[in-house]
Amino acid sequence: MLKDYLHKIKLCAACPKMCRFACPVAEVEKKERVTPWGKSLTALLLIEGRLSYDDPDVVDTFYSCCMCKKCKSYCLVDDVDIPAMVQTAREEIVAAKKEPEEIKQFLGQFKKFNNPFGKELKLPPHPSLSPEGRGLGRGGLKEGSSKADVLYFVGCSTLLDKDILNSTINLLDKAGQGYSIFSDCCGFPLWASGYTEDARGLMGKAKEAVLSSGAKKIITSCPACTYMLKSVYPVLGFSISAEVLHITQFIETLMRDGRLHLNKKSDIDTVYHDPCFLGRYLNIYDAPRSILGHIITLREPIKTREYNNCCGAGLYHFRSKTAKKITEIAVENIKQTKAKQMITACPTCKRIFTEALKDKVIVKDIITVL
Ligand code: SF4
Ligand code: SF4
Repeated sequence: MLKDYLHKIKLCAACPKMCRFACPVAEVEKKERVTPWGKSLTALLLIEGRLSYDDPDVVDTFYSCCMCKKCKSYCLVDDVDIPAMVQTAREEIVAAKKEPEEIKQFLGQFKKFNNPFGKELKLPPHPSLSPEGRGLGRGGLKEGSSKADVLYFVGCSTLLDKDILNSTINLLDKAGQGYSIFSDCCGFPLWASGYTEDARGLMGKAKEAVLSSGAKKIITSCPACTYMLKSVYPVLGFSISAEVLHITQFIETLMRDGRLHLNKKSDIDTVYHDPCFLGRYLNIYDAPRSILGHIITLREPIKTREYNNCCGAGLYHFRSKTAKKITEIAVENIKQTKAKQMITACPTCKRIFTEALKDKVIVKDIITVL
């Protein structure tokens, strides 16, 4: 409940509010109420009964957030976590049936195919995937690995990107790593929109798939999947005993154990973009840089690591104009490096930057260049 955040909200009220200059939504919309501090003050007035979810501006304030956590990089108060508070407020808005029309439409569209992309997504044919092995949700099972130690949790954003998916399968094969595959959505888009109750069905199915796979490790390509499985599932009663790793962490281990050798070298002038969930949420900054360091010399943009720009993805479903401007700001951060190629480690960042940078800068996911 929002009132569980009261102490943290009060800390915001007495702060010099440097976070307002960090927030990409505030930078674009230039409204005090959408700054991280504005969101906190709105929450305080709600708890005190001086505002209510009947006010469309209150609802709009909590949906004016891409959950990028950039405010946290500038906030010196340990306890304050604006995106967590925003997500809780969204749950309350949904419970009160006061969510904006665009959010309701998003839920309707999501429910048609159990993904946010408005179409059915299927695992592509791959020589390593047995068509008979359909024991794990809609996932296929790698030939001869009915109980593999590793479950590759593909997630819907990676299922949309066959390049990342096939490159990951090829890399696991190259390292001689047995694996099973699960390809449904982890529930992140619903949870982040406040539809946590609707996400529970997907979470239950994912947990069941992990248990029946017998996997000790789960690897994901999408940092939002990693965060959900690692941090959100346990809080909502879907604890998974297997270790959850982003693919960059797993590759680092394979290389350290001598099971994977990267022989390719590239001299393309390249910049790395830190995805919000991989960096600010999971604190994974070094693994992708260390892997890429074996094949390429990287440039760093001005805004990097915990200060990196959000690509705006978290707002595209319901605030596309603001989202596009946030993307434009992130694109400038890449373009100022004059690099010819941008590499990231998130299927969603790759999709957003590919569209925005078009033929100006080549955009790739880390797994596809190894
Ligand atoms: S989020 Fe942090 S920096 Fe921003 S107003 Fe609150 S306490 Fe201050
Ligand atoms: S999470 Fe990102 S968009 Fe949301 S308030 Fe913080 S800086 Fe702004």
